[in-house]
Amino acid sequence: MFDIQEIRSQFSILDREVNGKPLVYLDNAATSQKPNSVLEVCQAYYTELNANVHRGIHTLSQLATEEMELSRRKIQKFINAEHDFEVIFTKGTTEGLNLIAYILTQKLQKDDEIIISYLEHHSNIVPWQMLCERTGARLRVIPIDENGVLQLDYLDQYLSEKTKVVSVNQVSNALGIVNPIEEIIAKTRKNSDAYIVIDGAQSAPHFNIDVQKMDCDFFVFSGHKMYAPMGTGILYGKREILEALPPFHGGGEMIATCSFEGTTYAGLPFKYEAGTPNVGGNIALGAAVDFMNRVGHENIQNHENALLEYAQRQLLEIEGLKVYGEKAKRTGVVSFNLEGVGIASDVGMILDKMGIAVRTGHHCTQPIMNFFNIAGTVRASFAVYNTFEEIDRLVEGVKKAQRMLG
Ligand SMILES: *Cc1c(COP(=O)(O)O)cnc(C)c1O
Repeated sequence: MFDIQEIRSQFSILDREVNGKPLVYLDNAATSQKPNSVLEVCQAYYTELNANVHRGIHTLSQLATEEMELSRRKIQKFINAEHDFEVIFTKGTTEGLNLIAYILTQKLQKDDEIIISYLEHHSNIVPWQMLCERTGARLRVIPIDENGVLQLDYLDQYLSEKTKVVSVNQVSNALGIVNPIEEIIAKTRKNSDAYIVIDGAQSAPHFNIDVQKMDCDFFVFSGHKMYAPMGTGILYGKREILEALPPFHGGGEMIATCSFEGTTYAGLPFKYEAGTPNVGGNIALGAAVDFMNRVGHENIQNHENALLEYAQRQLLEIEGLKVYGEKAKRTGVVSFNLEGVGIASDVGMILDKMGIAVRTGHHCTQPIMNFFNIAGTVRASFAVYNTFEEIDRLVEGVKKAQRMLG
């Protein structure tokens, strides 16, 4: 049974008002709200358990360690990784992608190629540009068509023995386009020895993830977009690959032995977890996974798809409203503009006055905005706790903005 009111009752923040109106939170692709069960785990950690992990013989340190390792195993199950030590705690997708680009430095040389797509978030562009600067490798970008859909014949054309990395997102944050990563991975495996990196920041909150079935080498996502605290995230990497690559940060926790003559590194996952981790946050990420499991992946997806369908249908009835990205290929996001009526942020400001939170601007995807020749869009993005009544208020707000700005 999917009971939306019961779900909403688990998110206290949804009861608050903004500008004198009940909050309508439709900025979930930027960050989701956190259920009380996750907040309680954070609170309980600091009131009952707080201690540094892995180092202490004392009871609290051991309990904190056990809880964090239990959370790691929950996340292992959540993405179906083969081993728990393939699950590395990070502070988010950005750190995960930078980590991968850094540890691959020695694997690339001049004229090697890295393939990304036009639909990437800046955090899946810039670390690769920096890797190119370090190594002399070149970036190749799979283009999109006018519906925001990747043109995969370019991938066929680009793939060669020079390709060392293919890094794409599973779902675009700006448009909500779901990319055919199965096909991208299959083509890449067939035609190159490249490392395959999947940015799952927008898919982990919505889909069932199975990294073994997917057969990617790396999969990264952020906790804060899937009901967990900010400053949490996961890097999954295949065992043989992580074992063979060098560490990222040096420091405590990641060593086996350390002397001035030289240092040996700890095994996985600790080799990639230098320094004191966000213990409370990492434990709470496990609680967020519990929350999603309780609601059920199918329920989450069905509800969010129904919201998207409903929003899209009503918004498109507004004359002069343009939605970006092919509808059949989207999830969780509707990105639009009112043509000829002000700019996206004007619309966002009017919606905010009505208590409706949406994102406006380039969404950290300036290349996509340049492609469509716009400065930005208004983006409404959905989570499991959103309702059809909230969509009605969004539509009403957009109509009002059009009247006011027109
Ligand atoms: C949000 C996002 C990122 C960056 O995640 P952070 O949590 O800001 O590190 C990367 N890629 C996509 C697709 C995103 O939506």
